[in-house]
Amino acid sequence: KASVMDGDKFDNDLPTESPETSKAKSELEKLQEDRKTLPIYPYRDDLLKAVEDFQVLVIVGETGSGKTTQIPQYLHEAGYTKHGKVGCTQPRRVAAMSVAARVSQEMGVKLGHEVGYSIRFEDCTSEKTVLKYMTDGMLLRELLGEPDLASYSVIMVDEAHERTVSTDILFGLVKDIARFRKDIKLLISSATLDAEKFSDFFDSAPIFKIPGRRYPVEIHYTKAPEADYLDAAIVTVLQIHVSQSPGDILVFLTGQEEIETAEEILKHRIKGFGTKIAELIICPIYANLPTELQAKIFEPTPEAARKVVLATNIAETSLTIDGIKYVIDPGFCKMKSYNPRTGMESLLVTPISKASANQRAGRSGRTGPGKCFRLYTAYNYYTELDDNTPPEIQRTNLASVVLSLKSLGIHDLINFDFMDPPPAEALLKALELLFALSALNKLGELTKVGRRMAEFPLDPMLSKMIVASDKYKCSDEVISISAMLSVGNSIFYRPKDKQVHADNARMNFHTGNVGDHIALMKVYNSWRETNYSTQWCYENYIQVRSMKRARDVRDQLEGLLERVEIELTSNLNDLEAIKKAITSGFFPHSARLQKNGSYRTVKHPQTVYIHPSSGLAQVLPRWVVYHELVLTTKEYMRQVTELKPDWLVEIAPHYYQMKDVEDPGSKKMPKGQEDKRVK
Ligand code: ADP
Ligand code: MG
Repeated sequence: KASVMDGDKFDNDLPTESPETSKAKSELEKLQEDRKTLPIYPYRDDLLKAVEDFQVLVIVGETGSGKTTQIPQYLHEAGYTKHGKVGCTQPRRVAAMSVAARVSQEMGVKLGHEVGYSIRFEDCTSEKTVLKYMTDGMLLRELLGEPDLASYSVIMVDEAHERTVSTDILFGLVKDIARFRKDIKLLISSATLDAEKFSDFFDSAPIFKIPGRRYPVEIHYTKAPEADYLDAAIVTVLQIHVSQSPGDILVFLTGQEEIETAEEILKHRIKGFGTKIAELIICPIYANLPTELQAKIFEPTPEAARKVVLATNIAETSLTIDGIKYVIDPGFCKMKSYNPRTGMESLLVTPISKASANQRAGRSGRTGPGKCFRLYTAYNYYTELDDNTPPEIQRTNLASVVLSLKSLGIHDLINFDFMDPPPAEALLKALELLFALSALNKLGELTKVGRRMAEFPLDPMLSKMIVASDKYKCSDEVISISAMLSVGNSIFYRPKDKQVHADNARMNFHTGNVGDHIALMKVYNSWRETNYSTQWCYENYIQVRSMKRARDVRDQLEGLLERVEIELTSNLNDLEAIKKAITSGFFPHSARLQKNGSYRTVKHPQTVYIHPSSGLAQVLPRWVVYHELVLTTKEYMRQVTELKPDWLVEIAPHYYQMKDVEDPGSKKMPKGQEDKRVK
C-alpha cells in the first residue's frame, strides 16, 4: 500500500502545473532517457515485428537487459493493450511488486492503475490495469476462473529459466490456449541460453536474442573450503569495503534469518571501525521484506558511501540492482527437496549449480568490470557443483498443483504436456494425499470437498483444515490460525538483548500447553480485542507488520468462506473441536513420542523432533500433529499441537487403522511378519 502512495508524485491527472508536477515531469523525462540506454532498446522495433509475425516467441537476454520492465511497455505502446491486458508472470512475489512499481514510475501512472501487480493475498490492480505483473501461481489461479484467459491479449511467461512448478504447469496450459485462441500472443522469456528447449516445447517457436553487454568479471576462489560461510562472507564484505575501489557489494545468502544475522553482525563490526572508514549502507532483500523497505535497495548510493545488498537468490536473475561491482557468493541457496516415498518435503541449504554461480558472478559486470568472490574452492566449483538445478517439478510435493489441474478439468495427468514430467511416484503420492483428504474420490475425480478446497490459495492440507472447520463450527478460529500460519515464522519478535522478556511474553499465549496453533489463535484474538493496537504488539513482543499481514490474509479467507458457503462461526471454548479441525487437514502429519524424547511420524516412520521454538518443546505430549518439517541440525516439526490418537481413526479411517495408533508394546508381532511388513 505504501508504494501506491509513492506513485502519487507521478500522477499525470493533476490539472495544474504546480512545482510538484514540473518536478515529476523532469523525473519522468529522466526515466524516459534511462529506458533508452537499456540493452533491449535498440531491438525494440525488431522485437515488436517478431511479436506481430509469430504467435509464440522465445526471448533470451541477460539479466538487466530490460526484458521485464520494457517488453510489456513496448507492447502497450504498440497497441496490444487496446483489446486486452498484457500479463507478465514472475516466479517471485517481490519481483512482481518491485517491477510493477518501477514500470508505473516509468509510465508516470499510479501503481495499481494502468500498471498493477497481483500476488497471493494482495491484488494491486483495478479496472484500468492493462499491464499486470503477477506471480506464476496467481496466473494459474486466474485460469480457474477464466480458462481461456479471455481478458488477456498477451501472456509473457518471464524468468522461464527458473522452472518453478507453476511456470512449468503454465507452459502446458498456455500452449494449449494458444492453439484455440489465435489472437493471443505468448512470450517466453529467459535469462539463460538453453532457449532451444523452450523453443522445442512450443512447436519450434522462433528465438529472439537480445545481445547483452557484459564486462569482464574477475573470479576469485578461496584456497581452502570455508567452515563458516556466513562469517567468511562478512569478513569479505569488510575487506572489500576497506581495501577496494568504490562500487557496491552484493552478497548471496540463503534466507531471511541468515540475512538478519549478517546485518546485525555487520552493523556491530562497522561500529568498531569508528569514523575512520566510509559509510556502509546495508540493504537486506528477501521474499518477506516489507514493501516499504524493498525500494531502498534501488536507491542510488550517495558518493563516498558504499552499499552492501544482502540478498537471497532473488537477486540472481529476478531483480537487477544497478551499481553492483562486487559479488560475494558463498555457493549455497535454500532449495526444496521432496521424498516421494515418504511424502516429506523440506527446505534444505544446498550447494548451487554452476549455472547459478555464473549468473551470480555476472551481476558484478553489468555496468563495468566486476569482481566475484566465491567462498569455495575452484576444485569445488569444477568437480562438485551440478551444471544445472533440476526443475522444481521434479523435487516438490505436487498435491497443490494436482488439485488445481483437477479443478481445471484436466484428469489425465500422466499425459499432461509437461516440459519435463515429474516422477510418476510424486504424482501418485499427490493423488493419494488428495484422496486421503477426501478432495478426490476413488476414481480420482474432484469431490465437493475438493472443489471447495480448490477455492483457497493455500496448501491442500490448510484448505482442508478450513473446509473441515465447518463441521466443527469453528471457522472463525481456523481461518485466523491459517492466516497466522501463512505469514510464516515472523510473528514473535525476539531481540538479542531482551530474549528472556520476549520468551516470557510468548509463553503467556501457551498457558495450559494449548499447542502452537491455538497459541497463534490467541495472539490473533488478543490483538483483535485491542482493536488491532500497535502498542499491544510492542508490549507482547509481537511483530506488528506480520500481524497486519495476517489480518489481510484473514480478511480474504473470510471472503472465500462465503464463496464456498461456509458460515463464519466461532467455537472458542471448545478447543478440542478446533484441534479436530486442524487434525482433519493435517492428520498425515502425525507423530508419536519415543522413549528418548524424539518422535516417530506415524505413516512413514521417520525420527523427528519438536522445534525448540514450540510451546510444547518442554512438554512432549505423546501424540502430536505438526504443520511442517524443517531440517536444520535435526529434522524439526514446526507448529505443533497435541492430539488424541483416537481422532486419527475417527477423522481419517481410510488412512489410519487401529494398529497404527495402538501402543507398539501392547501387541508384539511375530518376528517373521514384522520382516514382511518392512518389505
Ligand atoms: P531484465 O528483466 O532483462 O532482467 P529488467 O527489466 O528487470 O531487466 O531491468 C531493467 C533495468 O530496470 C535495470 O537497470 C534495473 O536496475 C531497473 N529496475 C528494475 N526494477 C527497478 C526498480 N524497482 N527500481 C529501480 N530500477 C529498477
Ligand atoms: Mg527480468
